[in-house]
Amino acid sequence: MKSGKVKEKDLIIINEDIFNNVSEECLTYIIVHEVVHKLTNTRGHGAKFLNKLLSIYSMDEITKYEMEIYYAIQKSNL
Ligand SMILES: [Zn+2]
Repeated sequence: MKSGKVKEKDLIIINEDIFNNVSEECLTYIIVHEVVHKLTNTRGHGAKFLNKLLSIYSMDEITKYEMEIYYAIQKSNL
């Protein structure tokens, strides 16, 4: 990148409550998940997005981390 400025579209924002309530592996998953959205230029979780994510994580791992995120959200009362 030539410019030193960070573009808003390049930012990954993680809610502080989620950040504090999930494991380190889950945080890695969250970052990978967001990077896959950017790589595939998708906002939803359709085939294009899921196929790319499945090249990195198994369906079991994805389910496990998504559950962990779900419970962290419940805990933080967002
Ligand atoms: Zn997503």
